[in-house]
Amino acid sequence: MTTVLKCPTCKTAAEYTGNPFRPFCSERCKLIDLGAWATGDYRIPCMDQSVEQELEEM
Ligand SMILES: [Zn+2]
Repeated sequence: MTTVLKCPTCKTAAEYTGNPFRPFCSERCKLIDLGAWATGDYRIPCMDQSVEQELEEM
């Protein structure tokens, strides 16, 4: 059975089994994704704000 997943970077179908770069299709896509994280292209929702608001209401 072959597990195929979509590469998060280029959306190409990539084999999961035996793929050292999973979930990416290649080292290139992996590096691109890591680079995107490093440059802040991805934003993690800031949970601190809502926590602060809740504290103020108390
Ligand atoms: Zn890819």
